[in-house]
Amino acid sequence: MEIFIPILLILLILALRFFKADIKGFVGEKTTSSVLFFLNKSKYKVLNDVILKSGGYTTQIDHIVISDFGIFVIETKNYKGWIVGSENAEFWTQVIYRRKEKLYNPIRQNFGHIKALKNCLHEYPNVVYKSIIVFPSKADIKVNTTTDVIYLQNLLETIRKYSQINLSETDKENIYNKISSLNLAETFNKRKHVKAIKQRIQKRENAINANKCPRCGNDLIMRNGKYGNFLGCKSYPYCKFLRNV
Ligand SMILES: [Zn+2]
Repeated sequence: MEIFIPILLILLILALRFFKADIKGFVGEKTTSSVLFFLNKSKYKVLNDVILKSGGYTTQIDHIVISDFGIFVIETKNYKGWIVGSENAEFWTQVIYRRKEKLYNPIRQNFGHIKALKNCLHEYPNVVYKSIIVFPSKADIKVNTTTDVIYLQNLLETIRKYSQINLSETDKENIYNKISSLNLAETFNKRKHVKAIKQRIQKRENAINANKCPRCGNDLIMRNGKYGNFLGCKSYPYCKFLRNV
């Protein structure tokens, strides 16, 4: 019985560590998607990280909110310092400690996202699109625009100020499903995953070709077994890696 107490303690410590990292990530760094999570799900359907193919180009859209009141297309810019610009300028300026950096006007960038989305949803010509550009509170927004260029903490009230009905329940559902089915993000991630596996196999083969054990890094030596020769790890019996030759 007593032997279980240290095991329980270790499990408890591990669980606490796990949750601590989780809680810290949640409270410490609010993300746009974690804020959007608080929207009423019967009125707003949220899609994060959407990759669409349109006119031969792929477009990555940070957040799409399909609602009774139209579609919100949200671009998050994780910048700090002064953000200076105007509605139509090609570039905006980030001023930070007297240093100036150019950034492509996010309103224009998001306009491109909306265009791609319109292409994908051409059978819904009456949809109202709302562009929202989000900066974290560590930025100091100094732009004068008609488009919503806002701080993350004002995102929910900005979305909720639009109250004119634009989409029916059915349209909302169909549009959500259509964008989900066109979203290439999963395919992209799957491809990345396959590539990682291939790289792991390649690394293993390279190690074996260099006569190194891919599991522990010790030398591989030729051994003579009951059924013929094989390559075995020098650390045997601690490491049981072997390969038939
Ligand atoms: Zn080994």
